[in-house]
Amino acid sequence: ADYVWKKNTENIQEVFDFMEELGSSGAFSEVYMVKEKKTGKNFAMKCVKKKQKRDLNLENEIAVLRRIKHENVVGLEDFYESRTHYYLVMQLVSGGELFDRILDRGVYSEKDASRVIQQVLEAVSYLHQNGIVHRDLKPENILYYSQEENSKIMISDFGLSKMVDNGIMSTACGTPGYVGKKTCHSRGIISHSLCGYPPFYEESESRLFSKIMKAQYEFDSPFWDDISESAKDFIRNMMQKNPKMRYTTDLALRHPWIIGKTARSQDIY
Ligand code: ADP
Ligand code: MG
Repeated sequence: ADYVWKKNTENIQEVFDFMEELGSSGAFSEVYMVKEKKTGKNFAMKCVKKKQKRDLNLENEIAVLRRIKHENVVGLEDFYESRTHYYLVMQLVSGGELFDRILDRGVYSEKDASRVIQQVLEAVSYLHQNGIVHRDLKPENILYYSQEENSKIMISDFGLSKMVDNGIMSTACGTPGYVGKKTCHSRGIISHSLCGYPPFYEESESRLFSKIMKAQYEFDSPFWDDISESAKDFIRNMMQKNPKMRYTTDLALRHPWIIGKTARSQDIY
């Protein structure tokens, strides 16, 4: 390709106006809503502080991410680099995080959950086809496209930011509590926690990790009493400890609970 995939800048504020902070994960990265001066267009920009003096060669990774285009995946629009930072220019979405919306609504149905999981699966399947594994799939990284009640969701925070954070080839795990051995395992964990609470709970991090590895979870009464058998069947298949038996993304996408026949539409809690 002959377009410029990476732009160097020593003063990002010459290119963008910084409007407001959208999120922050501590010392190394912050996400801002920005306006590109030249076009007046708004974007979300993730600013990642470089940890190492030596520059990583991110050419291939950026090329891959720039090609990612899916209705359920937040796209990377542009990439800038300075001596101290990487700047990821992303499509701006305005619907907020999945968790916040569930909390705001207070009630939620299996149908709602099934629609969200379906979109997550579509996105994951697309990313896999493009050789990208989302290592940190959790509700905080599932965003609503717009404020509308039936807005689609988009997954964010994959690929480059994790590569930059952890080193290109690292097999980083993500956030304790959602940590699964494989991404497909953690999809099961998200499905499970959509139904009310995290599937695994332990005060001690090492005991939590051991529970996750052994896939120790239960459909506790009374919380799961009104959940359909179909939903439980879906979750059992997604949470399978044995990777050979565990659902692939494509099998999961064909499960009746996802296709829309069996997910109940009455509100839960
Ligand atoms: P990290 O988890 O490393 O801090 P994220 O990419 O998950 O970084 O971004 C942190 C938060 O910023 C998100 O949880 C979300 O609230 C907000 N955010 C991230 N990307 C966007 C985006 N494209 N549009 C709007 N808000 C975003
Ligand atoms: Mg995140």
